[in-house]
Amino acid sequence: MGSVYPKSTVFVAILHLKKQVPLPTSFGVGKTNFGMARTLTKAEGKTLLLLKPRGFCAGVVRAIDVVRIALEAFGPPIYVRKEIVHNSFVVEELRGKGAIFVDSEDEVPNGERIIYSAHGVSPEVREHSARRGLRVIDATCPLVTKVHVEAVKFAKEGYSLILIGHKDHDEVVGTLGEAPAVTQVVGSPEQVQSLSVPDPNRVAYLTQTTLSLDETKDIIAALKKKFPNIKGPAAQDICYATENRQVAVKQVASEADLLLVVGSENSSNSNRLVEVARNLGTNAHLVDSCNDIVAEWLKGVKTIALTAGASAPEHLVEETVEFLRSKGFANVQELEVMPENVRFGLPPEIVEAIAAAPAASAD
Ligand code: SF4
Repeated sequence: MGSVYPKSTVFVAILHLKKQVPLPTSFGVGKTNFGMARTLTKAEGKTLLLLKPRGFCAGVVRAIDVVRIALEAFGPPIYVRKEIVHNSFVVEELRGKGAIFVDSEDEVPNGERIIYSAHGVSPEVREHSARRGLRVIDATCPLVTKVHVEAVKFAKEGYSLILIGHKDHDEVVGTLGEAPAVTQVVGSPEQVQSLSVPDPNRVAYLTQTTLSLDETKDIIAALKKKFPNIKGPAAQDICYATENRQVAVKQVASEADLLLVVGSENSSNSNRLVEVARNLGTNAHLVDSCNDIVAEWLKGVKTIALTAGASAPEHLVEETVEFLRSKGFANVQELEVMPENVRFGLPPEIVEAIAAAPAASAD
């Protein structure tokens, strides 16, 4: 299997942190600013619209870099709690490099290194790891940590908390763990109706970071109707990457006969992209790779839009482009809906490991 990311990713990520330089475009396709979408080149053949931004977000780049650097700096064994990000190719790539994926900190021998995934963990997991003497490297996305901090703040102030999200998702399990006694999880406007709290005037809501913007809006509206004085986060919890990828799909859905999303089945934000397109009446499918594309889907299709969830590596998009080219979608146009140059700093254990490593060339 090819590498999930170029060898220089780690150094490129550090360069981004320092200089905020834009990432290189992976391959040469026609570029169209979205403002020009209505004047898309009409070719005789079939068209493939490649959406941008797509694929890896800053939290995923950071989490993958954390595992790679930890393996290089400390050597195996490095244990990773849960999938570092929800993508089977990324997990297999890192497993091949020596990462050991476990479901629980219970499975890690006392005193060994454990990395928490981008989705975050509950305080119970942190306490348990500390009792076991595990050396923790925390790859929780800073935007997930922001939601945890809000949960703690509202709970301390005596609010009942409503967490909007998918109750079994790793991120929701972690956030819920910050204040389990006062938090209830809801996933639909209907579920809001059955909520019961001690004081309806002291209720706050938070959300999972990777939800559908539209569906979350409906749930928040239902909450506001039931609890008119409900408080919310200062800025929305749905993250920039989730929002940007959904906005891009919305912008282009009417131009396409079919939308394909590269992403794994357990990736929340990837699934939401499929739903956004379907809600707009555009046929859409989630594919882990081009191998999942069913010939039937392409029958009678003139224009395909292609995007990728925040945990899907770009090489899978490139392979999908090549596959679709081979099926006649030779007019490939990249539509950049908005620029995206967000980068997060690395955890202190990793920064120290880099500082302690012998000088290396970025080439
Ligand atoms: S999808 Fe959003 S919250 Fe999740 S890792 Fe990426 S940036 Fe962070």
